Parts: sequence; structure tokens; C-alpha cells
Amino acid sequence: MAAKIIDGKAIADKIIEGLKEKIDGLDKKPGLAVVLVGDNPASSVYVNIKSIACEKAGIRDMKQHLPENTSEEEVLGLIEELNNDSDVDGILVQLPLPKHIDEHKIIEAINPLKDVDGFHFTSIGNLFINREKFVPCTPKGIIRLLEEEGIEIEGKHAVVVGRSNIVGKPVAMLLMNRNATVTVCHSKTKDLGEETRKADILIAAVGKPKLITADMVKQGAVVVDVGINKVDDRLIGDVDFDDVKEKAGYITPVPKGVGPMTVAMLLENTFEAYNK
Ligand code: NAD
Repeated sequence: MAAKIIDGKAIADKIIEGLKEKIDGLDKKPGLAVVLVGDNPASSVYVNIKSIACEKAGIRDMKQHLPENTSEEEVLGLIEELNNDSDVDGILVQLPLPKHIDEHKIIEAINPLKDVDGFHFTSIGNLFINREKFVPCTPKGIIRLLEEEGIEIEGKHAVVVGRSNIVGKPVAMLLMNRNATVTVCHSKTKDLGEETRKADILIAAVGKPKLITADMVKQGAVVVDVGINKVDDRLIGDVDFDDVKEKAGYITPVPKGVGPMTVAMLLENTFEAYNK
């Protein structure tokens, strides 16, 4: 039997609608400041998507766009201003930053109470010790998709392919916090298929089109495809969707799977920051 396709777009829309209902009733609306430095085309697209989402939820879009040649000092100065501005509930610095700016220094300057992207050491530390506060948006969105579908995590063998700081490592931690047995694979893993075939829950976060083929998936597994790869002007994932969907129990599509959940979780984190 073919897999159930998890409709991330519909789940994200429902979450945003729920937030809007709560925010509509507030006198003062939550504010999100997305900081973009320079004109990286992909970053500009992402920032735009976030602005549209803010509008849908009724969150004030307090976007800050600085020119490419802005100095590290000036970016730190802006972060300080946003930290002290009571109208700003959440701060997100769009990555990557231009090469002359130290990313870590900028992220660490954000007040952890406004760290809606969850990349500050304080947020990562809290995740590590299972005191989740602001959780990075893509990993949080993946877990929410599983929860919304009623997929149990406890006791399951989860295999995460990819060990990045923004997806692979935090999602592995979230799964561990929920009592899954977790294997993390990466570019130096010897036999990837041997590992992925053990997965009850398989998360692919690599950035290589169709890396995960049907022979690498256990019958009935839950397959979450985080990858976004542009091939011939089309977006495709890290999973060979057409073949794998015939074998998996659940599968997320690309697009309209994990992507919309990332944005919904950013709005949710902003609302949480407002309530704190
Ligand atoms: P990254 O480049 O930082 O990390 C990729 C990881 O894949 C690395 O840990 C590397 O060791 C591993 N890897 C590379 N080749 C491998 C191979 N052959 N076998 C096993 N592991 C291998 O990437 P990232 O930032 O984690 O993003 C991964 C993908 O997810 C990208 O396609 C990115 O566009 C996408 N992404 C999507 C969202 C979303 O909202 N849907 C958010 C973030 C990233």
C-alpha cells in the first residue's frame, strides 16, 4: 500500500490560523525583527516568505535590511537596539551573513529571551539538557508533523541523515528527548543504506537530490524529507519520492512538507517570546 502523504502545508496553515485567532484578540501585537545583511537572493526570498507569513498571523513585521558592506560593529549595534526595544519580541538574523561578519558573535549578541530562531548557545544548551525553550524552527516543525499525524516517537529507532547545527543535530536531540533510539549518519558514514534500513523514522537532511532510494527504506517507515534541491527549475527533496512512497508508511513531499512548517514554527516561537 502506498504511503500516507503528510500535508505539511495544510498543517502549517492550521497552526498559523490558530495563532491569528489568538493574536487578533490582543491590543498590542507581537513583533518580529528579521535582520538581513546584503542581497543574497536565496536569503531575500526566505525573508520575503517570513514577511508574508507574519502578515497572515497578524504579527508586526519589523524587518531590518542592511547593506552588504555593513560592519560587524554596526550589526552588533542594531542587535543591541532590538534587544532593548520593547516592541520587538523576536529577533532572527538571516544566515549566511557576509564573510567579514562573525556569525557566532552576532547570534550570541541576541537576548536569549528573543532568540526565536533557537540558535543562541543558551537555547541550544537548554535543548541539550531537555529543557526545551526556543527550539530551532525546522527541527521543531519536523517533530510537530509527527505529532500531528499521531506517530509515536518513544521507543522507535530514528535515523537522521545529516549532522548540521541547524537541522541534523537539533532534530536528533529532540528525538532523543522524546525517547527514540537515534542514529545520526553523515558524509563519512560507511554504509548509509545499512543504517537507514533500520529506521522506523527516517529524517533526510542532506541537500542531495534523491539520495534516499526505496532500497534504503524499511517497509512501512515514516520518511521525512527536509532537503530542498533545485533541479531543472523544480524543487525536489533528498528522497526519491515516487519510489519511496510505494514502500514507506508515511512520507513528506517537497515542496509543501517540512518547508511551510519551518515558517509556522518561527511564528509560534515569536508568539511564545511575546508571552514571556
Ligand atoms: P548542510 O550542508 O549544513 O549539512 C548537510 C549534512 O549532510 C552534513 O552533515 C553532511 O555530513 C551530510 N551529508 C552530505 N553528504 C552525505 C551523504 N552522501 N550521505 C550522508 N550524509 C551526507 O545542510 P543543512 O543546512 O542541514 O540542510 C540540508 C538540506 O535541508 C538542504 O537541502 C537544505 O536546503 C534543506 N533545508 C530545508 C529546510 C526547510 O525548511 N525545509 C531548512 C533547512 C535546510
